[in-house]
This record gives sequence, structure tokens and C-alpha cells, in this order.
Amino acid sequence: MFKKIFYLCILAVASAYAGTYLIQVDLGPERINEFIDQGIDVIAELEHSAIALVPQDKLATFSNGVYQILDENAIEGDYYLVRATNEQFEPHIYGSVLFQEEQDLLLKIDPAMFEQLIGQQVHVKKLFFRPIVQSAIVPSIPQVRFDQNIQDIVDLVDPDTILSIVQRLQDFKSRYSTYDSCFAAGNWIRDKFLSYGVDSVFFQYHTGGHAPNVIAVKRGVLYPDSIYTVICGHYDAITYYGPDIAPGADDNASGTANVIEAARVTKDYQFEFSIRYMAFSGEEFGLYGSEYYAYHAHNDGDSIRGVFNGDMIGYIDVQPESIEVIGKLSNPSCDWLADFLIASADTYATVLTRKRLTNNWIPSDNQSFLDYGYPALLEIEDYGVTNPHYHSPSDTIGAGYNANDFCTEVSKAQIAAISIMAVPYVTGIVEERSETVPLSMTVYPSITGSQFTISLNTHDLDNALIMIHDVLGRTIAHYPKADVVVWNGHNDQGKRVPAGVYFVRAHAGGQIVQEKILLLR
Ligand SMILES: [Zn+2]
Repeated sequence: MFKKIFYLCILAVASAYAGTYLIQVDLGPERINEFIDQGIDVIAELEHSAIALVPQDKLATFSNGVYQILDENAIEGDYYLVRATNEQFEPHIYGSVLFQEEQDLLLKIDPAMFEQLIGQQVHVKKLFFRPIVQSAIVPSIPQVRFDQNIQDIVDLVDPDTILSIVQRLQDFKSRYSTYDSCFAAGNWIRDKFLSYGVDSVFFQYHTGGHAPNVIAVKRGVLYPDSIYTVICGHYDAITYYGPDIAPGADDNASGTANVIEAARVTKDYQFEFSIRYMAFSGEEFGLYGSEYYAYHAHNDGDSIRGVFNGDMIGYIDVQPESIEVIGKLSNPSCDWLADFLIASADTYATVLTRKRLTNNWIPSDNQSFLDYGYPALLEIEDYGVTNPHYHSPSDTIGAGYNANDFCTEVSKAQIAAISIMAVPYVTGIVEERSETVPLSMTVYPSITGSQFTISLNTHDLDNALIMIHDVLGRTIAHYPKADVVVWNGHNDQGKRVPAGVYFVRAHAGGQIVQEKILLLR
């Protein structure tokens, strides 16, 4: 009923010109996988529809009636998904409505009106012309159990510190993404990360004129590089008043404070896996910063084990407030990731939780990671904004941000979750070495985590033996008289073994060395 209303007039382009068509397609039970399997570039997914880019000669792939052409000669930058949070919103002021599905609009933007649009009480997502990636199944991690190491980290979370960060970010007066004061906020966040001794911090510039993403990296002891967990939030802000005032205390100094506090309380700990702390910009313009990050992470083959994105976690409208945990229904890893975060909250924080999985787009930075197949959650005080100070100059401490305790408890839950996932590094590598000729072994995971290069430094190759054990101690594979082995997750019978934790153990010269590894699929 609410679909298939809008068709654009075809204006100029000669029929000989093979343009790229922007189309809407109804989704079946296979959802977008059906189209991805046919080589079609889906660039957005809604509850019942996919938005796709199709060259003219491929339109025949679709039988009549299940798709509609939204625009011909589609050009990136023109299209945004828009979800208004108030009923007075008048979309036609800001462009043409190409498609509507329930509360979601696909707008072809009038560029002159764009910055006025985003200051309204709306969520926006730019349609980047990059195809959505099918979700990968990330192996689930162990159940949450009480662990004193985790409790020790969570106990460091401090409400006064969180409040002071929110205050400082608010004091920039405007964190409008293209404003100097937003760049200054980015510098301040970088300096905070550096002061907590992270291994590296970098600015990631994503869109001309916008303040950069600020990315801090804490390298894992066993997996220093491309396998990591993300805690993130956007630090840019916006109001209907215009770019000069955008204090954004709840939206989203709250989530940013959570990220910075995570870096602070984990600073004296080491972990097996890497953690990345991220403050994104350009979110209010349509998820610019996070999309850029996730796109490059995907292209680089990064294995992201889970993304925890806090956006608006400092306002309560009821007592007790619950934190909503929002993931994507058709991403098979979001379900357990949400359960995992909720278990972390139950074990290490005092906050009620509410899990919600949806196939529709989620208007915050975790959506960018979902688009590239990564498991990613949004944590938000209320899904469906209830904060009356949303995108307003009164989004300040005491008004839009009225619940520092709540924000603190959400921080505890998220920090527990990332710490459990990253695995505190306590025992280290088991080694028994003779004093004269120490045996040493290095194990490098591939970018995907599905292959490991094991090399042994020994003078006793004749008696060397490299073995792979599972967690029950069973020998999965063994390689005698070898000092370099590439293990690609197969057992001695040549069969693929399941994803999970394994041990590489090597014997030589009467010595043994061992390392724990995580095989990903
Ligand atoms: Zn936000």
C-alpha cells in the first residue's frame, strides 16, 4: 500500500546511453542474499526492500512488477535514507521523495537544502555506491562468567571522569562536523587517547572539509594486528539552530565519553586480541566517518570480532531506564553478540537491557559495519528517540544529558564486553627453555585468521615436531622434521576443522613451546 507510488519522469538521456539505474526491489525470504548472489549491487536494505544499482542491460534480470526504477543515471551523493522522529517533518522541502516504506524515506537531495535537512529531528544515511557485503559468521566467544580480572577493570570506571568528558566535549560549543571547533574536539580526543598510552592513534580523514575520525589502537599480545574488537561512538553533533551551537551532550558526548573511558580503564592491562577505540565524525551528515572506516577495514581484510557503538546513552525518561541493544536480524552474529553484551551487563553493571534485532537500517555508526558484514550493535537509551532535547541547543548536561549514573553503567557493560572479548593476557606463552639453546616459535595469523604461519627456531630439525591441538588436548595435525609450517585449518586427514581456539605446540632439542591461536572462518 505504501509502496510503488513514485516513479520519476525520464527527462533527457538518450536511450543509447547505458546509465546506472537506482531501483527498489521487494525482498523475499532470502533477503538481499538473493540479489548479491546474482551479482547485483545492493546499496541499502530496508525492512521489506532493497535499493540497488543496476546497469541498464541487467534490468532484464528482474521480472516485471517486483522492482521499480527510482532514478536513471544515478549519481552518488544525491540519495539519502531519512527517518524523521516527528510527524511535522516535511520531506518535500529538502528534495524529492523517490520511495517511502513506512517511516523511511529515500530522498533525492536538493544540495542547497541538505544542511537544513540534517539539523531537523531526523536520522540520515547517505547511500554510498558501494555494495553491501554478505554477513560473515564470526565464531561465537565463550559465555560470560565472573572473572576478577574483568571486575578489576570495570571497577575503574568512574562517573566523575565520564561527566568531566561530557562537559569538556559540550564546552567546544559546536562539534558540527565541518567546524574548526569539531577539529579541535578531535585533537582533544586524540590527546586523551595518547595520554592513556595506547599503541597508536591516527586521524582518518574521510570527507572533504570534515573533522577526521580519531582511531586509537591497543595491540593484542597474541594478535596484534587485524583481529580486533571495536568500541565506538560519534563525536560530531548538530542542531536545528545551525552550526554555531551544537553541544550534543547526549548525542553524542555520552557515547564518546564511554569510548575515552574505555581507553583509560584498560590502559594498564594487556589483552590477547587488539582493541580499537573510535570516535567518528560526519555521523550526523549520514554516517560518513564510520562508512569510510568500515569500507577500508573490509578492503584490508580486517577481522572485526564485534562492534559496540554507543549513541545517546545519557538521557532517561523513565525510572528505571533500560539500555536498548540493537542489531541486525539477518546478520547471524548479531544475535549472540547482543546476548553477550547483555550477559556482560548483567554480570558487571547495574542496568536493565532490552534486545532488539531488526532487518531495517539502524541510524547510527554500527550500520556502516553491518553493511560490510561485520557484527555490530547500537546501544541507545531509547530506540525511537524520546529525548526532547534531541538535535537541539539544550542537549546539555542537566537537560538533554540527565543521567550520568545511567551512562556510567552502560559504560561498565560495554567495557566489560570488550575486555572479555579481547581476553586479558595473564598467563602468557608457556615455554620451557634450556639455558643454552632456547627454542623459540613465532605464529603469524593471516589477515582473515583462517591460516597461520608457524616458524620454529631450532638447531635440532631432525627431532623437531610441530603439532596442532584442540582445546581438549587432542592432536589435530602434526608436522615432523619441519621448522616452517603453514597451517590452513585442516587436520591430518585433510579435513577442515571448525573455527575456534587451538594450540600450536612444538618440540625440539628436549624443549617445548606452545601458543594459543584462534582459527576464524
Ligand atoms: Zn547520534
